[in-house]
Amino acid sequence: MIDLHSHTTASDGTYSPAELVDEAGRAGVHILGITDHDTFSGYDQARPPARLSGLELVCGIELSTKLHGHSVHLLGYFLEDDKLSGFRSWILDLQASRRERNIRLVARLRELGLDITLEEAQARGGEMTGRPHFARLLVEKGYVSSPQQAFDEYLDESAKGYVTRREPDFAEAIRHIRDAHGIASLAHPVRLREDLAAILPELRAAGLNAIEAYHSDHSPAQTELYLRLAAQHRLLVTGGSDFHGAAKPEIRLGTGRGGNLLIPEDLMERLRAG
Ligand code: AMP
Ligand code: FE
Ligand code: FE
Ligand code: ZN
Repeated sequence: MIDLHSHTTASDGTYSPAELVDEAGRAGVHILGITDHDTFSGYDQARPPARLSGLELVCGIELSTKLHGHSVHLLGYFLEDDKLSGFRSWILDLQASRRERNIRLVARLRELGLDITLEEAQARGGEMTGRPHFARLLVEKGYVSSPQQAFDEYLDESAKGYVTRREPDFAEAIRHIRDAHGIASLAHPVRLREDLAAILPELRAAGLNAIEAYHSDHSPAQTELYLRLAAQHRLLVTGGSDFHGAAKPEIRLGTGRGGNLLIPEDLMERLRAG
Protein backbone atom coordinates (compact mmCIF):
# COMPACT_ATOMS: atom_id res chain seq x y z
CA MET A 1 0.00 0.00 0.00
CA ILE A 2 1.07 3.59 -0.68
CA ASP A 3 0.26 6.63 1.45
CA LEU A 4 1.78 9.98 0.51
CA HIS A 5 0.17 12.24 3.11
CA SER A 6 0.88 11.88 6.82
CA HIS A 7 1.83 13.97 9.84
CA THR A 8 4.04 13.29 12.86
CA THR A 9 4.57 15.01 16.21
CA ALA A 10 6.98 17.29 14.32
CA SER A 11 3.82 19.15 13.27
CA ASP A 12 0.26 18.33 14.36
CA GLY A 13 0.23 14.53 14.29
CA THR A 14 0.29 12.49 17.49
CA TYR A 15 2.64 9.70 16.36
CA SER A 16 6.37 10.31 16.68
CA PRO A 17 8.32 9.71 13.47
CA ALA A 18 9.46 6.30 14.76
CA GLU A 19 5.91 5.36 15.81
CA LEU A 20 4.62 6.36 12.37
CA VAL A 21 7.17 4.06 10.75
CA ASP A 22 5.92 1.23 13.01
CA GLU A 23 2.32 2.06 12.13
CA ALA A 24 3.18 1.87 8.42
CA GLY A 25 4.46 -1.66 9.04
CA ARG A 26 1.27 -2.67 10.88
CA ALA A 27 -0.97 -1.07 8.24
CA GLY A 28 0.84 -2.72 5.33
CA VAL A 29 2.06 0.58 3.88
CA HIS A 30 5.34 0.03 2.01
CA ILE A 31 5.78 3.56 0.57
CA LEU A 32 5.12 6.40 3.01
CA GLY A 33 5.23 10.14 2.35
CA ILE A 34 5.70 12.27 5.46
CA THR A 35 4.21 15.70 4.83
CA ASP A 36 4.42 17.65 8.07
CA HIS A 37 3.32 21.28 8.01
CA ASP A 38 6.27 23.58 7.22
CA THR A 39 9.00 21.20 8.44
CA PHE A 40 11.16 18.23 7.39
CA SER A 41 12.05 17.39 10.97
CA GLY A 42 9.66 14.40 11.15
CA TYR A 43 10.93 13.03 7.83
CA ASP A 44 14.55 13.45 8.94
CA GLN A 45 13.88 11.57 12.18
CA ALA A 46 11.95 8.81 10.43
CA ARG A 47 14.79 7.94 8.06
CA PRO A 48 16.87 5.68 10.35
CA PRO A 49 13.92 3.55 11.59
CA ALA A 50 12.49 3.39 8.05
CA ARG A 51 15.80 2.13 6.72
CA LEU A 52 15.86 -0.57 9.41
CA SER A 53 12.34 -1.73 8.67
CA GLY A 54 12.64 -1.59 4.88
CA LEU A 55 9.98 1.12 4.50
CA GLU A 56 10.41 3.40 1.48
CA LEU A 57 10.07 6.99 2.72
CA VAL A 58 9.12 9.87 0.44
CA CYS A 59 10.33 13.29 1.52
CA GLY A 60 7.40 15.68 1.62
CA ILE A 61 6.02 18.83 3.15
CA GLU A 62 2.63 20.56 3.41
CA LEU A 63 2.67 24.34 3.06
CA SER A 64 -0.10 26.80 3.91
CA THR A 65 -0.24 29.32 1.08
CA LYS A 66 -2.44 32.23 0.06
CA LEU A 67 -4.51 31.98 -3.09
CA HIS A 68 -7.06 34.66 -3.96
CA GLY A 69 -7.18 35.72 -0.30
CA HIS A 70 -7.76 32.22 1.13
CA SER A 71 -5.49 29.68 2.73
CA VAL A 72 -4.75 26.77 0.38
CA HIS A 73 -2.57 23.78 1.25
CA LEU A 74 0.16 22.76 -1.13
CA LEU A 75 2.15 19.52 -0.94
CA GLY A 76 5.78 19.34 -2.01
CA TYR A 77 7.43 16.00 -2.82
CA PHE A 78 11.16 15.80 -3.19
CA LEU A 79 12.19 12.62 -4.91
CA GLU A 80 15.81 13.85 -4.90
CA ASP A 81 16.22 15.07 -1.36
CA ASP A 82 19.84 16.16 -1.83
CA LYS A 83 18.65 19.35 -3.61
CA LEU A 84 16.90 20.78 -0.58
CA SER A 85 19.30 23.14 1.15
CA GLY A 86 17.80 26.35 -0.31
CA PHE A 87 14.29 25.18 0.43
CA ARG A 88 15.20 24.22 3.99
CA SER A 89 16.38 27.75 4.67
CA TRP A 90 13.27 29.28 3.05
CA ILE A 91 10.94 27.35 5.38
CA LEU A 92 12.65 28.87 8.44
CA ASP A 93 10.77 32.07 7.50
CA LEU A 94 7.47 30.18 7.47
CA GLN A 95 8.19 28.76 10.91
CA ALA A 96 8.97 32.26 12.20
CA SER A 97 5.69 33.60 10.81
CA ARG A 98 3.78 30.86 12.62
CA ARG A 99 5.49 31.67 15.93
CA GLU A 100 4.73 35.36 15.49
CA ARG A 101 1.08 34.53 14.67
CA ASN A 102 0.82 32.35 17.79
CA ILE A 103 1.69 35.32 20.00
CA ARG A 104 -1.15 37.35 18.44
CA LEU A 105 -3.50 34.36 18.59
CA VAL A 106 -2.99 34.04 22.36
CA ALA A 107 -3.69 37.76 22.78
CA ARG A 108 -6.86 37.47 20.70
CA LEU A 109 -8.16 34.41 22.55
CA ARG A 110 -7.45 36.08 25.91
CA GLU A 111 -9.36 39.13 24.68
CA LEU A 112 -12.28 36.79 24.06
CA GLY A 113 -12.11 35.71 27.68
CA LEU A 114 -10.20 32.44 27.35
CA ASP A 115 -7.60 32.00 30.06
CA ILE A 116 -4.74 30.46 28.09
CA THR A 117 -1.03 31.15 27.65
CA LEU A 118 1.50 30.65 24.86
CA GLU A 119 3.46 28.32 27.15
CA GLU A 120 0.42 26.05 27.51
CA ALA A 121 -0.02 25.84 23.74
CA GLN A 122 3.68 25.23 23.21
CA ALA A 123 3.65 22.47 25.80
CA ARG A 124 1.35 20.63 23.36
CA GLY A 125 2.92 21.63 20.05
CA GLY A 126 6.59 22.21 20.74
CA GLU A 127 8.50 23.93 17.97
CA MET A 128 5.69 23.66 15.46
CA THR A 129 2.80 24.79 17.62
CA GLY A 130 -0.21 25.53 15.44
CA ARG A 131 -3.95 25.95 15.66
CA PRO A 132 -4.62 22.21 16.20
CA HIS A 133 -2.61 22.45 19.43
CA PHE A 134 -4.64 25.48 20.52
CA ALA A 135 -7.75 23.44 19.73
CA ARG A 136 -6.56 20.64 22.05
CA LEU A 137 -5.78 23.17 24.76
CA LEU A 138 -9.29 24.67 24.55
CA VAL A 139 -10.76 21.17 24.88
CA GLU A 140 -8.59 20.35 27.88
CA LYS A 141 -9.56 23.62 29.57
CA GLY A 142 -13.23 22.84 29.01
CA TYR A 143 -13.99 25.85 26.80
CA VAL A 144 -15.19 23.56 23.99
CA SER A 145 -16.08 19.90 23.83
CA SER A 146 -14.06 18.91 20.75
CA PRO A 147 -11.20 20.18 18.60
CA GLN A 148 -13.70 20.69 15.78
CA GLN A 149 -15.80 22.94 18.01
CA ALA A 150 -12.64 24.89 18.86
CA PHE A 151 -12.10 25.52 15.15
CA ASP A 152 -15.72 26.33 14.45
CA GLU A 153 -16.04 28.81 17.31
CA TYR A 154 -12.57 30.29 17.58
CA LEU A 155 -9.86 29.17 15.17
CA ASP A 156 -11.28 28.73 11.68
CA GLU A 157 -10.65 31.44 9.08
CA SER A 158 -14.29 32.51 9.53
CA ALA A 159 -14.34 32.32 13.36
CA LYS A 160 -14.06 35.11 15.90
CA GLY A 161 -10.60 34.21 17.24
CA TYR A 162 -8.92 33.97 13.86
CA VAL A 163 -5.80 36.04 13.32
CA THR A 164 -4.06 36.18 9.98
CA ARG A 165 -0.64 34.78 9.38
CA ARG A 166 1.90 35.84 6.80
CA GLU A 167 1.64 33.02 4.28
CA PRO A 168 3.56 32.73 1.04
CA ASP A 169 1.66 33.24 -2.13
CA PHE A 170 0.58 29.98 -3.81
CA ALA A 171 2.72 30.68 -6.90
CA GLU A 172 5.74 31.66 -4.80
CA ALA A 173 5.52 28.41 -2.82
CA ILE A 174 5.34 26.42 -6.06
CA ARG A 175 8.41 28.24 -7.31
CA HIS A 176 10.37 27.24 -4.21
CA ILE A 177 9.26 23.61 -4.54
CA ARG A 178 10.20 23.52 -8.22
CA ASP A 179 13.56 25.21 -7.56
CA ALA A 180 14.30 22.32 -5.20
CA HIS A 181 13.41 19.87 -8.03
CA GLY A 182 10.21 18.97 -6.19
CA ILE A 183 6.71 18.11 -7.35
CA ALA A 184 3.99 20.55 -6.26
CA SER A 185 0.59 18.97 -5.64
CA LEU A 186 -2.65 20.69 -4.66
CA ALA A 187 -3.63 19.16 -1.29
CA HIS A 188 -7.21 17.93 -0.63
CA PRO A 189 -8.84 19.99 -3.43
CA VAL A 190 -12.24 19.35 -1.83
CA ARG A 191 -11.39 22.08 0.68
CA LEU A 192 -10.92 24.75 -1.99
CA ARG A 193 -13.39 27.59 -1.70
CA GLU A 194 -13.32 28.10 -5.45
CA ASP A 195 -14.27 25.88 -8.35
CA LEU A 196 -11.20 23.84 -9.21
CA ALA A 197 -12.06 23.45 -12.88
CA ALA A 198 -12.31 27.22 -13.22
CA ILE A 199 -8.97 28.02 -11.62
CA LEU A 200 -6.90 25.04 -12.82
CA PRO A 201 -5.48 26.84 -15.88
CA GLU A 202 -4.14 29.53 -13.57
CA LEU A 203 -2.73 26.99 -11.08
CA ARG A 204 -1.08 25.09 -13.89
CA ALA A 205 0.43 28.29 -15.28
CA ALA A 206 1.87 28.92 -11.80
CA GLY A 207 3.74 25.61 -12.16
CA LEU A 208 1.48 23.16 -10.33
CA ASN A 209 2.50 19.59 -11.20
CA ALA A 210 -0.17 17.46 -9.58
CA ILE A 211 -3.51 17.17 -7.79
CA GLU A 212 -4.12 15.11 -4.66
CA ALA A 213 -7.03 13.23 -6.20
CA TYR A 214 -6.98 10.50 -3.54
CA HIS A 215 -7.67 11.79 -0.01
CA SER A 216 -9.67 10.60 3.01
CA ASP A 217 -12.06 13.55 2.67
CA HIS A 218 -12.96 12.76 -0.95
CA SER A 219 -16.06 10.83 -1.97
CA PRO A 220 -15.66 8.38 -4.87
CA ALA A 221 -17.35 10.92 -7.16
CA GLN A 222 -14.98 13.67 -6.07
CA THR A 223 -11.95 11.42 -6.64
CA GLU A 224 -13.27 10.65 -10.12
CA LEU A 225 -13.71 14.34 -10.85
CA TYR A 226 -10.16 15.18 -9.72
CA LEU A 227 -8.71 12.31 -11.75
CA ARG A 228 -10.56 13.56 -14.80
CA LEU A 229 -9.41 17.15 -14.28
CA ALA A 230 -5.82 15.99 -13.79
CA ALA A 231 -5.96 14.02 -17.04
CA GLN A 232 -7.55 16.93 -18.91
CA HIS A 233 -4.89 19.37 -17.75
CA ARG A 234 -2.04 16.85 -18.01
CA LEU A 235 -1.29 16.98 -14.31
CA LEU A 236 0.10 14.16 -12.20
CA VAL A 237 -1.91 12.59 -9.40
CA THR A 238 -0.96 12.13 -5.75
CA GLY A 239 -2.84 10.63 -2.85
CA GLY A 240 -2.73 9.99 0.86
CA SER A 241 -4.77 9.56 4.01
CA ASP A 242 -3.68 12.78 5.79
CA PHE A 243 -3.07 10.62 8.86
CA HIS A 244 -2.75 12.67 12.09
CA GLY A 245 -2.97 9.80 14.63
CA ALA A 246 -5.24 10.46 17.61
CA ALA A 247 -5.79 14.05 16.43
CA LYS A 248 -8.07 12.59 13.73
CA PRO A 249 -8.77 9.09 15.06
CA GLU A 250 -11.24 8.15 12.34
CA ILE A 251 -8.51 8.29 9.67
CA ARG A 252 -6.23 5.25 9.27
CA LEU A 253 -2.86 5.18 7.62
CA GLY A 254 -3.06 3.79 4.08
CA THR A 255 -6.81 3.17 4.05
CA GLY A 256 -8.30 6.51 5.11
CA ARG A 257 -11.76 6.89 6.58
CA GLY A 258 -13.50 3.54 6.95
CA GLY A 259 -11.38 2.12 4.13
CA ASN A 260 -12.44 4.77 1.59
CA LEU A 261 -8.93 5.24 0.26
CA LEU A 262 -7.43 3.05 -2.43
CA ILE A 263 -4.27 4.46 -3.89
CA PRO A 264 -3.09 2.69 -7.05
CA GLU A 265 0.17 0.81 -6.73
CA ASP A 266 1.70 2.48 -9.81
CA LEU A 267 1.31 6.02 -8.42
CA MET A 268 4.99 6.37 -7.48
CA GLU A 269 6.22 5.13 -10.84
CA ARG A 270 4.07 7.74 -12.56
CA LEU A 271 5.41 10.47 -10.29
CA ARG A 272 8.97 9.36 -10.93
CA ALA A 273 8.38 9.30 -14.68
CA GLY A 274 7.09 12.91 -14.35
P1 AMP B 1 -1.94 26.50 11.40
O1 AMP B 1 -0.97 26.04 10.36
O2 AMP B 1 -1.36 26.60 12.76
O3 AMP B 1 -2.68 27.74 10.99
O4 AMP B 1 -3.04 25.32 11.53
C1 AMP B 1 -3.58 24.80 10.36
C2 AMP B 1 -4.09 23.40 10.60
O5 AMP B 1 -5.28 23.47 11.37
C3 AMP B 1 -4.53 22.73 9.31
O6 AMP B 1 -3.46 22.03 8.73
C4 AMP B 1 -5.59 21.77 9.75
O7 AMP B 1 -5.02 20.56 10.21
C5 AMP B 1 -6.21 22.49 10.92
N1 AMP B 1 -7.43 23.22 10.54
C6 AMP B 1 -7.56 24.41 9.91
N2 AMP B 1 -8.85 24.79 9.77
C7 AMP B 1 -9.58 23.80 10.34
C8 AMP B 1 -10.99 23.60 10.52
N3 AMP B 1 -11.89 24.50 10.12
N4 AMP B 1 -11.37 22.46 11.15
C9 AMP B 1 -10.46 21.55 11.59
N5 AMP B 1 -9.13 21.69 11.43
C10 AMP B 1 -8.68 22.79 10.82
FE1 FE C 1 -2.68 19.11 9.88
FE1 FE D 1 -3.90 20.02 4.76
ZN1 ZN E 1 -2.12 17.25 5.91
